[in-house]
Amino acid sequence: MSAVAAPGPLAVVGAGPVGLSAALAAHALGLPAVLLEAQPRAAAAARPGSRAIFVHRATLELLERISPGLGEQIAARGLVWRTKRTLWAGREVHARSYRPSSAAPPFTSLPQTMVEDLLRAACDRAGIAQHWGDPVARVASEKGSVRLRTAGGVAHEASHVIAADGPRSTVRAEAGLALRGSTSATGFVVIDVADAAGLAEPERIFHYRHPAVGGRNVLLVPFRGGWRVDVQCRPGEDGGRLIDEAPDWLPGVLPQLPAHEVTWSSVYRFQQRLASAFTDRHQRILLAGEAAHLLPPFGARGMNSGIADAVAAARAVHTATVPAYAVARRAAAQQNIHAAAGALDHLLAARPRRRAAQWAAAAAAPWWPRAGRWLDAAPYGPQLRAVTY
Ligand SMILES: Cc1cc2nc3c(=O)[nH]c(=O)nc-3n(C[C@H](O)[C@H](O)[C@H](O)COP(=O)(O)OP(=O)(O)OC[C@H]3O[C@@H](n4cnc5c(N)ncnc54)[C@H](O)[C@@H]3O)c2cc1C
Repeated sequence: MSAVAAPGPLAVVGAGPVGLSAALAAHALGLPAVLLEAQPRAAAAARPGSRAIFVHRATLELLERISPGLGEQIAARGLVWRTKRTLWAGREVHARSYRPSSAAPPFTSLPQTMVEDLLRAACDRAGIAQHWGDPVARVASEKGSVRLRTAGGVAHEASHVIAADGPRSTVRAEAGLALRGSTSATGFVVIDVADAAGLAEPERIFHYRHPAVGGRNVLLVPFRGGWRVDVQCRPGEDGGRLIDEAPDWLPGVLPQLPAHEVTWSSVYRFQQRLASAFTDRHQRILLAGEAAHLLPPFGARGMNSGIADAVAAARAVHTATVPAYAVARRAAAQQNIHAAAGALDHLLAARPRRRAAQWAAAAAAPWWPRAGRWLDAAPYGPQLRAVTY
Protein backbone atom coordinates (compact mmCIF):
# COMPACT_ATOMS: atom_id res chain seq x y z
CA MET A 1 0.00 0.00 0.00
CA SER A 2 1.10 3.55 -0.66
CA ALA A 3 1.60 6.61 1.51
CA VAL A 4 -1.19 7.97 3.70
CA ALA A 5 -1.40 11.75 3.67
CA ALA A 6 -1.99 13.50 6.99
CA PRO A 7 -5.76 13.45 7.64
CA GLY A 8 -7.40 16.82 7.10
CA PRO A 9 -10.75 17.83 8.55
CA LEU A 10 -12.06 18.88 5.13
CA ALA A 11 -11.12 17.65 1.65
CA VAL A 12 -12.03 19.72 -1.39
CA VAL A 13 -11.95 17.67 -4.59
CA GLY A 14 -11.35 19.66 -7.77
CA ALA A 15 -9.43 22.91 -8.18
CA GLY A 16 -11.66 24.64 -10.70
CA PRO A 17 -13.20 27.98 -9.68
CA VAL A 18 -15.62 26.26 -7.30
CA GLY A 19 -13.08 24.06 -5.50
CA LEU A 20 -10.60 26.93 -5.17
CA SER A 21 -13.37 29.12 -3.70
CA ALA A 22 -14.45 26.34 -1.33
CA ALA A 23 -10.89 25.96 -0.02
CA LEU A 24 -10.63 29.72 0.51
CA ALA A 25 -14.02 29.85 2.23
CA ALA A 26 -12.99 27.03 4.57
CA HIS A 27 -9.73 28.78 5.35
CA ALA A 28 -11.58 32.02 6.12
CA LEU A 29 -13.65 30.10 8.68
CA GLY A 30 -10.56 28.60 10.28
CA LEU A 31 -11.24 25.12 8.85
CA PRO A 32 -8.06 23.45 7.63
CA ALA A 33 -8.66 22.07 4.13
CA VAL A 34 -6.77 20.04 1.60
CA LEU A 35 -7.36 20.63 -2.09
CA LEU A 36 -7.07 17.56 -4.35
CA GLU A 37 -6.89 18.10 -8.10
CA ALA A 38 -6.64 15.57 -10.93
CA GLN A 39 -4.62 17.68 -13.32
CA PRO A 40 -1.08 18.91 -12.84
CA ARG A 41 -1.11 22.56 -11.82
CA ALA A 42 0.50 23.74 -15.09
CA ALA A 43 -2.20 21.98 -17.16
CA ALA A 44 -5.01 23.50 -15.07
CA ALA A 45 -3.46 26.95 -15.49
CA ALA A 46 -3.35 26.47 -19.25
CA ARG A 47 -7.05 25.57 -19.69
CA PRO A 48 -8.16 27.30 -22.90
CA GLY A 49 -11.09 29.55 -23.64
CA SER A 50 -12.91 32.45 -22.07
CA ARG A 51 -15.69 30.22 -20.62
CA ALA A 52 -17.36 31.90 -17.62
CA ILE A 53 -16.53 35.56 -18.19
CA PHE A 54 -19.32 37.31 -16.32
CA VAL A 55 -18.51 37.63 -12.63
CA HIS A 56 -21.55 39.01 -10.86
CA ARG A 57 -21.28 41.63 -8.10
CA ALA A 58 -22.65 39.12 -5.56
CA THR A 59 -19.76 36.79 -6.48
CA LEU A 60 -17.18 39.58 -6.20
CA GLU A 61 -18.55 40.35 -2.73
CA LEU A 62 -18.40 36.69 -1.66
CA LEU A 63 -14.80 36.38 -2.87
CA GLU A 64 -13.85 39.62 -1.14
CA ARG A 65 -15.30 38.26 2.08
CA ILE A 66 -13.45 34.94 2.00
CA SER A 67 -10.17 36.42 0.80
CA PRO A 68 -9.89 40.17 1.44
CA GLY A 69 -8.66 41.99 -1.67
CA LEU A 70 -9.57 39.14 -4.06
CA GLY A 71 -12.92 40.54 -5.21
CA GLU A 72 -11.28 43.91 -5.77
CA GLN A 73 -8.42 42.34 -7.74
CA ILE A 74 -10.80 40.48 -10.04
CA ALA A 75 -12.91 43.62 -10.53
CA ALA A 76 -9.80 45.69 -11.31
CA ARG A 77 -8.54 43.20 -13.93
CA GLY A 78 -11.89 42.78 -15.64
CA LEU A 79 -13.87 44.97 -17.95
CA VAL A 80 -17.27 46.60 -17.35
CA TRP A 81 -19.35 47.26 -20.43
CA ARG A 82 -21.82 50.08 -19.94
CA THR A 83 -24.05 49.71 -23.00
CA LYS A 84 -26.25 46.80 -23.98
CA ARG A 85 -27.97 46.68 -27.32
CA THR A 86 -30.39 44.35 -29.01
CA LEU A 87 -30.91 44.19 -32.76
CA TRP A 88 -33.39 42.36 -34.94
CA ALA A 89 -32.19 41.50 -38.46
CA GLY A 90 -29.86 44.52 -38.60
CA ARG A 91 -32.20 46.98 -36.89
CA GLU A 92 -31.76 48.19 -33.31
CA VAL A 93 -34.77 47.39 -31.11
CA HIS A 94 -33.34 48.26 -27.68
CA ALA A 95 -30.34 50.11 -26.25
CA ARG A 96 -29.45 51.07 -22.74
CA SER A 97 -26.36 52.76 -21.33
CA TYR A 98 -25.37 52.99 -17.69
CA ARG A 99 -23.41 55.91 -16.26
CA PRO A 100 -20.13 55.04 -14.58
CA SER A 101 -20.39 55.31 -10.83
CA SER A 102 -17.96 55.27 -7.93
CA ALA A 103 -19.87 52.37 -6.33
CA ALA A 104 -18.64 48.78 -6.64
CA PRO A 105 -19.06 47.57 -10.26
CA PRO A 106 -22.25 45.60 -10.94
CA PHE A 107 -20.12 42.83 -12.53
CA THR A 108 -16.81 42.34 -14.25
CA SER A 109 -16.00 40.55 -17.48
CA LEU A 110 -12.80 38.52 -17.35
CA PRO A 111 -11.81 35.13 -18.82
CA GLN A 112 -12.31 32.28 -16.37
CA THR A 113 -8.61 31.36 -16.66
CA MET A 114 -7.66 34.76 -15.24
CA VAL A 115 -10.15 34.41 -12.39
CA GLU A 116 -8.68 30.97 -11.65
CA ASP A 117 -5.12 32.41 -11.69
CA LEU A 118 -6.16 34.89 -8.99
CA LEU A 119 -7.97 32.20 -6.97
CA ARG A 120 -4.91 29.92 -7.08
CA ALA A 121 -2.66 32.78 -5.97
CA ALA A 122 -5.06 33.52 -3.09
CA CYS A 123 -4.95 29.82 -2.03
CA ASP A 124 -1.14 29.94 -2.11
CA ARG A 125 -1.10 33.10 0.03
CA ALA A 126 -3.47 31.46 2.50
CA GLY A 127 -1.13 28.45 2.75
CA ILE A 128 -3.85 25.96 1.76
CA ALA A 129 -2.53 22.39 1.34
CA GLN A 130 -2.79 21.35 -2.32
CA HIS A 131 -2.15 18.09 -4.16
CA TRP A 132 -2.12 18.38 -7.94
CA GLY A 133 -1.96 15.80 -10.71
CA ASP A 134 -3.58 12.84 -8.96
CA PRO A 135 -7.32 12.22 -9.43
CA VAL A 136 -9.46 11.04 -6.55
CA ALA A 137 -10.58 7.56 -7.56
CA ARG A 138 -12.41 6.07 -4.56
CA VAL A 139 -14.57 7.73 -1.92
CA ALA A 140 -16.20 5.95 1.01
CA SER A 141 -18.48 7.97 3.24
CA GLU A 142 -19.14 6.62 6.71
CA LYS A 143 -20.94 7.90 9.75
CA GLY A 144 -18.04 9.92 11.18
CA SER A 145 -15.68 10.55 8.27
CA VAL A 146 -14.91 10.06 4.60
CA ARG A 147 -12.04 8.02 3.22
CA LEU A 148 -10.60 8.98 -0.14
CA ARG A 149 -8.05 7.27 -2.30
CA THR A 150 -6.37 8.79 -5.33
CA ALA A 151 -5.44 6.99 -8.55
CA GLY A 152 -1.83 7.36 -7.40
CA GLY A 153 -2.66 5.42 -4.25
CA VAL A 154 -2.60 8.26 -1.71
CA ALA A 155 -5.23 7.90 1.02
CA HIS A 156 -6.88 10.79 2.84
CA GLU A 157 -9.32 10.79 5.70
CA ALA A 158 -11.55 13.81 6.03
CA SER A 159 -14.42 14.87 8.24
CA HIS A 160 -16.26 16.08 5.13
CA VAL A 161 -15.70 16.33 1.39
CA ILE A 162 -16.74 19.20 -0.82
CA ALA A 163 -17.10 17.65 -4.27
CA ALA A 164 -16.16 20.33 -6.80
CA ASP A 165 -14.86 17.91 -9.40
CA GLY A 166 -17.02 19.13 -12.25
CA PRO A 167 -19.65 17.59 -14.50
CA ARG A 168 -18.17 14.07 -14.58
CA SER A 169 -17.72 14.08 -10.80
CA THR A 170 -16.15 10.90 -9.47
CA VAL A 171 -17.15 11.84 -5.93
CA ARG A 172 -20.81 12.17 -6.97
CA ALA A 173 -20.70 8.75 -8.63
CA GLU A 174 -18.96 7.17 -5.64
CA ALA A 175 -21.66 8.64 -3.37
CA GLY A 176 -24.30 6.96 -5.54
CA LEU A 177 -25.89 10.26 -6.58
CA ALA A 178 -27.23 10.72 -10.11
CA LEU A 179 -27.14 13.80 -12.34
CA ARG A 180 -30.45 14.03 -14.17
CA GLY A 181 -31.80 16.40 -16.77
CA SER A 182 -31.68 17.21 -20.43
CA THR A 183 -29.42 18.49 -23.18
CA SER A 184 -30.72 20.67 -25.99
CA ALA A 185 -30.66 19.18 -29.48
CA THR A 186 -29.65 22.55 -30.91
CA GLY A 187 -25.97 23.37 -30.75
CA PHE A 188 -24.28 26.68 -30.07
CA VAL A 189 -20.90 27.79 -31.33
CA VAL A 190 -18.62 29.88 -29.14
CA ILE A 191 -15.65 31.74 -30.55
CA ASP A 192 -13.18 33.98 -28.71
CA VAL A 193 -11.77 36.81 -30.85
CA ALA A 194 -8.71 38.70 -29.65
CA ASP A 195 -8.98 42.45 -29.08
CA ALA A 196 -6.03 43.12 -26.78
CA ALA A 197 -6.00 46.83 -27.63
CA GLY A 198 -9.74 47.23 -26.97
CA LEU A 199 -10.39 48.56 -30.49
CA ALA A 200 -14.10 47.74 -30.51
CA GLU A 201 -16.38 49.72 -28.19
CA PRO A 202 -17.24 47.32 -25.33
CA GLU A 203 -20.98 46.67 -25.59
CA ARG A 204 -23.07 43.59 -24.92
CA ILE A 205 -25.00 42.95 -28.12
CA PHE A 206 -27.68 40.36 -28.76
CA HIS A 207 -28.59 40.18 -32.43
CA TYR A 208 -31.68 38.20 -33.45
CA ARG A 209 -31.43 36.90 -37.01
CA HIS A 210 -28.05 38.45 -37.75
CA PRO A 211 -27.84 39.09 -41.51
CA ALA A 212 -24.06 38.45 -41.56
CA VAL A 213 -24.52 34.92 -40.16
CA GLY A 214 -27.37 33.74 -42.35
CA GLY A 215 -30.08 34.97 -39.98
CA ARG A 216 -28.84 33.09 -36.91
CA ASN A 217 -29.02 34.55 -33.39
CA VAL A 218 -25.69 35.99 -32.22
CA LEU A 219 -24.57 37.12 -28.78
CA LEU A 220 -21.48 39.33 -28.46
CA VAL A 221 -19.90 39.90 -25.06
CA PRO A 222 -16.65 41.81 -24.54
CA PHE A 223 -14.16 40.72 -21.91
CA ARG A 224 -10.72 41.99 -20.97
CA GLY A 225 -8.60 41.15 -24.01
CA GLY A 226 -11.25 40.06 -26.45
CA TRP A 227 -14.78 39.22 -27.49
CA ARG A 228 -16.87 36.19 -26.96
CA VAL A 229 -19.16 35.38 -29.89
CA ASP A 230 -21.96 32.84 -29.35
CA VAL A 231 -23.90 31.76 -32.42
CA GLN A 232 -27.03 29.62 -32.25
CA CYS A 233 -26.85 26.82 -34.83
CA ARG A 234 -29.83 25.87 -36.96
CA PRO A 235 -31.60 22.65 -35.96
CA GLY A 236 -29.37 19.73 -36.94
CA GLU A 237 -26.56 22.00 -38.11
CA ASP A 238 -22.91 21.02 -37.75
CA GLY A 239 -21.37 23.68 -35.48
CA GLY A 240 -17.86 22.68 -36.56
CA ARG A 241 -18.59 23.85 -40.08
CA LEU A 242 -19.84 27.21 -38.80
CA ILE A 243 -16.52 27.56 -36.95
CA ASP A 244 -14.56 26.70 -40.13
CA GLU A 245 -16.50 29.38 -41.96
CA ALA A 246 -15.88 32.00 -39.24
CA PRO A 247 -13.33 34.00 -41.32
CA ASP A 248 -16.19 34.70 -43.77
CA TRP A 249 -18.78 35.92 -41.24
CA LEU A 250 -16.78 37.38 -38.34
CA PRO A 251 -16.00 40.67 -40.17
CA GLY A 252 -19.76 41.27 -40.46
CA VAL A 253 -20.25 40.59 -36.75
CA LEU A 254 -17.32 42.60 -35.40
CA PRO A 255 -16.73 45.18 -38.15
CA GLN A 256 -14.80 47.46 -35.77
CA LEU A 257 -11.86 45.04 -35.66
CA PRO A 258 -9.30 45.23 -38.49
CA ALA A 259 -8.41 41.53 -38.06
CA HIS A 260 -10.23 38.60 -36.50
CA GLU A 261 -7.80 36.40 -34.62
CA VAL A 262 -9.73 33.44 -33.19
CA THR A 263 -8.10 32.36 -29.92
CA TRP A 264 -10.53 29.57 -28.98
CA SER A 265 -13.66 27.95 -30.33
CA SER A 266 -16.02 25.23 -29.23
CA VAL A 267 -19.46 23.77 -29.85
CA TYR A 268 -21.78 23.29 -26.89
CA ARG A 269 -25.37 22.41 -26.12
CA PHE A 270 -27.61 23.80 -23.41
CA GLN A 271 -27.40 21.46 -20.43
CA GLN A 272 -29.97 21.52 -17.66
CA ARG A 273 -29.00 18.87 -15.14
CA LEU A 274 -29.37 18.52 -11.41
CA ALA A 275 -27.94 16.04 -8.89
CA SER A 276 -30.53 13.81 -7.23
CA ALA A 277 -29.32 15.16 -3.86
CA PHE A 278 -26.57 17.59 -2.86
CA THR A 279 -25.32 15.41 -0.01
CA ASP A 280 -24.91 11.69 0.65
CA ARG A 281 -26.84 9.68 3.20
CA HIS A 282 -24.21 10.26 5.90
CA GLN A 283 -24.16 14.00 5.15
CA ARG A 284 -20.41 13.94 4.82
CA ILE A 285 -20.17 14.77 1.11
CA LEU A 286 -21.42 18.10 -0.21
CA LEU A 287 -21.76 18.56 -3.97
CA ALA A 288 -20.94 22.02 -5.34
CA GLY A 289 -20.72 23.70 -8.76
CA GLU A 290 -20.89 21.55 -11.87
CA ALA A 291 -20.63 18.39 -9.80
CA ALA A 292 -24.12 19.35 -8.58
CA HIS A 293 -25.75 21.13 -11.52
CA LEU A 294 -25.17 21.91 -15.16
CA LEU A 295 -26.52 25.14 -16.59
CA PRO A 296 -26.16 26.80 -19.98
CA PRO A 297 -23.84 29.82 -20.33
CA PHE A 298 -26.64 32.29 -21.21
CA GLY A 299 -27.50 34.06 -17.94
CA ALA A 300 -23.99 33.45 -16.52
CA ARG A 301 -25.36 31.24 -13.77
CA GLY A 302 -22.82 28.39 -13.91
CA MET A 303 -19.73 29.76 -12.22
CA ASN A 304 -21.58 32.38 -10.19
CA SER A 305 -23.91 29.84 -8.64
CA GLY A 306 -21.02 27.39 -8.18
CA ILE A 307 -19.05 29.91 -6.13
CA ALA A 308 -22.15 30.60 -4.03
CA ASP A 309 -22.39 26.81 -3.46
CA ALA A 310 -18.72 26.69 -2.45
CA VAL A 311 -19.03 29.41 0.18
CA ALA A 312 -22.28 27.95 1.52
CA ALA A 313 -20.78 24.44 1.65
CA ALA A 314 -17.79 25.55 3.75
CA ARG A 315 -20.16 27.41 6.08
CA ALA A 316 -22.39 24.35 6.39
CA VAL A 317 -19.42 22.17 7.39
CA HIS A 318 -18.35 24.82 9.91
CA THR A 319 -21.80 25.19 11.45
CA ALA A 320 -22.83 21.53 11.13
CA THR A 321 -25.79 22.42 8.89
CA VAL A 322 -25.13 20.13 5.95
CA PRO A 323 -28.79 19.04 5.45
CA ALA A 324 -29.89 22.69 5.24
CA TYR A 325 -27.12 23.34 2.70
CA ALA A 326 -28.30 20.46 0.57
CA VAL A 327 -31.89 21.70 0.56
CA ALA A 328 -31.17 25.41 0.02
CA ARG A 329 -28.55 25.06 -2.71
CA ARG A 330 -30.54 22.41 -4.57
CA ALA A 331 -33.53 24.76 -4.54
CA ALA A 332 -31.32 27.56 -5.88
CA ALA A 333 -30.05 25.27 -8.64
CA GLN A 334 -33.65 24.32 -9.50
CA GLN A 335 -34.49 27.99 -9.90
CA ASN A 336 -31.47 28.47 -12.14
CA ILE A 337 -32.52 25.49 -14.25
CA HIS A 338 -36.02 26.90 -14.53
CA ALA A 339 -34.55 30.23 -15.71
CA ALA A 340 -32.31 28.42 -18.19
CA ALA A 341 -35.33 26.56 -19.58
CA GLY A 342 -37.06 29.91 -20.12
CA ALA A 343 -34.01 31.24 -21.96
CA LEU A 344 -33.80 28.18 -24.19
CA ASP A 345 -37.51 28.28 -25.00
CA HIS A 346 -37.08 31.89 -26.12
CA LEU A 347 -33.90 31.27 -28.13
CA LEU A 348 -35.26 28.25 -29.98
CA ALA A 349 -38.69 29.87 -30.50
CA ALA A 350 -39.94 26.45 -31.55
CA ARG A 351 -43.58 27.23 -30.70
CA PRO A 352 -45.49 29.39 -33.22
CA ARG A 353 -46.86 31.56 -30.36
CA ARG A 354 -43.35 32.38 -29.16
CA ARG A 355 -42.18 33.17 -32.71
CA ALA A 356 -45.20 35.40 -33.28
CA ALA A 357 -44.56 37.25 -29.99
CA GLN A 358 -40.96 37.91 -31.03
CA TRP A 359 -41.93 39.20 -34.47
CA ALA A 360 -44.62 41.41 -32.93
CA ALA A 361 -42.20 42.78 -30.32
CA ALA A 362 -39.62 43.55 -33.01
CA ALA A 363 -42.25 45.42 -35.03
CA ALA A 364 -43.57 47.32 -31.99
CA ALA A 365 -40.18 48.17 -30.43
CA PRO A 366 -39.67 51.55 -32.20
CA TRP A 367 -42.77 53.03 -30.52
CA TRP A 368 -43.24 50.68 -27.53
CA PRO A 369 -39.99 50.50 -25.50
CA ARG A 370 -41.34 47.67 -23.34
CA ALA A 371 -41.30 45.37 -26.35
CA GLY A 372 -37.62 46.17 -26.95
CA ARG A 373 -36.84 45.60 -23.27
CA TRP A 374 -38.47 42.18 -23.45
CA LEU A 375 -36.49 41.22 -26.56
CA ASP A 376 -33.35 42.36 -24.72
CA ALA A 377 -33.94 40.41 -21.52
CA ALA A 378 -35.66 37.20 -22.65
CA PRO A 379 -32.59 35.38 -24.08
CA TYR A 380 -31.19 35.09 -20.53
CA GLY A 381 -34.33 33.77 -18.86
CA PRO A 382 -36.22 35.38 -16.00
CA GLN A 383 -34.12 37.51 -13.65
CA LEU A 384 -33.33 35.94 -10.32
CA ARG A 385 -32.56 37.70 -7.08
CA ALA A 386 -28.75 37.78 -6.66
CA VAL A 387 -29.07 35.72 -3.50
CA THR A 388 -30.43 32.74 -5.44
CA TYR A 389 -27.31 32.41 -7.59
C1 LIG B 1 -17.71 26.26 -23.59
C2 LIG B 1 -18.07 26.71 -22.20
C3 LIG B 1 -18.55 27.97 -22.01
C4 LIG B 1 -18.94 28.38 -20.74
N1 LIG B 1 -19.42 29.63 -20.58
C5 LIG B 1 -19.84 30.03 -19.37
C6 LIG B 1 -20.37 31.32 -19.15
O1 LIG B 1 -20.43 32.13 -20.07
N2 LIG B 1 -20.80 31.66 -17.90
C7 LIG B 1 -20.73 30.76 -16.86
O2 LIG B 1 -21.10 31.11 -15.72
N3 LIG B 1 -20.23 29.54 -17.04
C8 LIG B 1 -19.79 29.15 -18.25
N4 LIG B 1 -19.28 27.92 -18.42
C9 LIG B 1 -19.28 27.01 -17.28
C10 LIG B 1 -18.12 27.25 -16.38
O3 LIG B 1 -16.93 27.05 -17.08
C11 LIG B 1 -18.31 26.29 -15.23
O4 LIG B 1 -19.52 26.67 -14.57
C12 LIG B 1 -17.21 26.27 -14.24
O5 LIG B 1 -15.97 25.91 -14.78
C13 LIG B 1 -17.60 25.24 -13.17
O6 LIG B 1 -16.63 25.22 -12.22
P1 LIG B 1 -16.38 23.93 -11.33
O7 LIG B 1 -15.23 24.32 -10.47
O8 LIG B 1 -17.65 23.47 -10.75
O9 LIG B 1 -15.96 22.79 -12.37
P2 LIG B 1 -14.71 22.70 -13.30
O10 LIG B 1 -14.28 24.04 -13.77
O11 LIG B 1 -15.02 21.65 -14.32
O12 LIG B 1 -13.57 22.17 -12.33
C14 LIG B 1 -13.56 20.85 -11.85
C15 LIG B 1 -12.15 20.48 -11.48
O13 LIG B 1 -12.16 19.19 -10.90
C16 LIG B 1 -11.09 18.45 -11.42
N5 LIG B 1 -11.43 17.03 -11.28
C17 LIG B 1 -12.26 16.29 -12.02
N6 LIG B 1 -12.31 15.03 -11.59
C18 LIG B 1 -11.48 14.97 -10.53
C19 LIG B 1 -11.10 13.93 -9.64
N7 LIG B 1 -11.59 12.69 -9.78
N8 LIG B 1 -10.23 14.21 -8.65
C20 LIG B 1 -9.73 15.47 -8.49
N9 LIG B 1 -10.05 16.49 -9.32
C21 LIG B 1 -10.93 16.23 -10.31
C22 LIG B 1 -10.97 18.91 -12.86
O14 LIG B 1 -9.69 18.62 -13.39
C23 LIG B 1 -11.23 20.39 -12.69
O15 LIG B 1 -10.05 21.11 -12.43
C24 LIG B 1 -18.84 27.50 -19.67
C25 LIG B 1 -18.31 26.23 -19.86
C26 LIG B 1 -17.91 25.83 -21.10
C27 LIG B 1 -17.34 24.45 -21.28
